[in-house]
Amino acid sequence: MSLPPSVYDAEPIPEAARAEIERLLTTGDLFRYTAAQDAPVTLLETEFAQMMGTKYALAVSSCSAALFLSLKALDLPRGARVLLPGFTFAAVPSAVVHADCRPVLCEVGEDYRIDIADFESRLPGVDAVIISHMRGHTSDMDAIMALCADRDIPVVEDAAHSLGTTWHGQNIGTIGRIGCFSFQSYKLLNSGEGGMLITDDADLVARAIIMSGAYEHMWKKHKPRHGENSNDLTEALERWQNRLPLYNLRLSNLAAAIVRPQLAEVPRRVRDGRRNHDHTAAAIGASPWIVVPGKLPPEERAPDSLQFNLVGLDDAQTRAFQTAAAERGVKVQVFGLSTDNARAFWNWQFIPDLPDLPRTRAMLMRACDCRLPARLTLADCDAIAAALIGAVEEVMTPAPQAATAG
Ligand SMILES: *Cc1c(COP(=O)(O)O)cnc(C)c1O
Repeated sequence: MSLPPSVYDAEPIPEAARAEIERLLTTGDLFRYTAAQDAPVTLLETEFAQMMGTKYALAVSSCSAALFLSLKALDLPRGARVLLPGFTFAAVPSAVVHADCRPVLCEVGEDYRIDIADFESRLPGVDAVIISHMRGHTSDMDAIMALCADRDIPVVEDAAHSLGTTWHGQNIGTIGRIGCFSFQSYKLLNSGEGGMLITDDADLVARAIIMSGAYEHMWKKHKPRHGENSNDLTEALERWQNRLPLYNLRLSNLAAAIVRPQLAEVPRRVRDGRRNHDHTAAAIGASPWIVVPGKLPPEERAPDSLQFNLVGLDDAQTRAFQTAAAERGVKVQVFGLSTDNARAFWNWQFIPDLPDLPRTRAMLMRACDCRLPARLTLADCDAIAAALIGAVEEVMTPAPQAATAG
């Protein structure tokens, strides 16, 4: 059996980035608004909009910045209530707090997806919704969009970790009014830090463009998707000129030059990530102590990590499983068991009136998380699956000498 591979190393940046980075180093042209036209950030925006099939894309410094700007662009009143799942990354409720809004959390089920009945029960009085597709698991967007459309509540998709995922064939991030993506190193596109906001709404994107730091007439360098008429955008930008605060959340040309050649890699990364995930999920799902929740029928996933639930293990056995897996070379995160985990809602103590979410809490205490990047081979995946199964068997099957001892 081969040793499990390192799952934390990123993929190399495509060689094609090198010439453009060299040019940027030579010219020092790192600010997105210096060049008269065709700056790397602008090109990335139009290419990303093209890839996603949206009219507008705005590159920013992170997905968290994109979420924050989304809420500001929606012009929500101070203290507005924003509903989001109780299973997400701490930066998401943080963006809500930053935007002077109040996070309202709803329950998430054992399948890592929003509990629709609980979501519906918390909708009255809510002004906006952020759907975090956590670890790329898509919640029931048909139900969510119908419930929100009935009440005229805008939906922002936190698709940070969902690039390449589709729902009824439609790109995740294009279903809600706004979609937000991350280019942090653990996501499908990696520039270390970075993010993207996409929408078809000229007025919303105009507000976000200005607040992202397009001061004076820098906004004239923003373009819609190639071939799209830019009149709506220009009118909206003229309307908002000088009327909005600047938060300066721009992306640099260097980050854009690193992301652009990766766009062509997206289909391969999605295909191989899904292959690795489904192969490993099938292998570990054979264990009586492991359940890998299935995808929803309209969903085609783009995973780069594996989540599964331990069944029939108590806290001590779950910890013993983590230790046994680590001894076999596989690091498993149990979201609710590690101290100060940023994905455990009870650690978001900056939220006033933090609710108890018993279902979400129970899930977090048994939900395991392993990275499973697209670059792994099936042999690597077999080694990881063998380590996970060996670890749970070691914990749950008493060894013969232990059974006869004392
Ligand atoms: C990574 C991630 C974020 C934060 O993205 P940044 O670009 O680091 O701000 C938000 N939500 C989800 C679901 C994520 O996976």
